[in-house]
Amino acid sequence: MALPHVFIWWDEFDRRDLPCVCMRCGKKKAEWTKWRFERSVYKNMRNYRRIRKVEIPLCTEHAGLFGFAMITCVTYDDDRGVWAINVCDEYQEALKKYRKSEVKAWKEENPDEDPDEGEDTDLPPGLRKAPEEPKQSTTGLKIGLAFFLVILAVVLGGFVLVCGLVGVLFFAVRAR
Ligand SMILES: [Zn+2]
Repeated sequence: MALPHVFIWWDEFDRRDLPCVCMRCGKKKAEWTKWRFERSVYKNMRNYRRIRKVEIPLCTEHAGLFGFAMITCVTYDDDRGVWAINVCDEYQEALKKYRKSEVKAWKEENPDEDPDEGEDTDLPPGLRKAPEEPKQSTTGLKIGLAFFLVILAVVLGGFVLVCGLVGVLFFAVRAR
């Protein structure tokens, strides 16, 4: 089963250290295309947009304004990388292989290095631990839910109160 998203490090984009096939369809003839990832930041009761510009490999069909490459993300990590969505299976496979071969080359070059030591950024991406995808910020959602619950409580409370009053009146009338 394909992963819903794939984590790509910023420095992989920066160094073009990625397989150069189309991220959307896997076509071999791809070109580095200016791209942007967006995420929203919730702060001071408002949603802000943050944008990170990179270059990603796309075929001529998917590059450009009307290519609908749809390589997006829900969120990204400012320092490390992005959890990209809609990356095709072919690309994910190619990336896996690519990273593996990079790791092999790195190990041959650095036979004495222990991948468990030293900074992650010194290691080839295949040996780094991708950070956990943060849970979507639910603050806005929670505030909405809280409002909803308060309104519900008020309505229910009012309903119970009215029913209670009617009941009390009913009994009061019958008792006479
Ligand atoms: Zn394509």
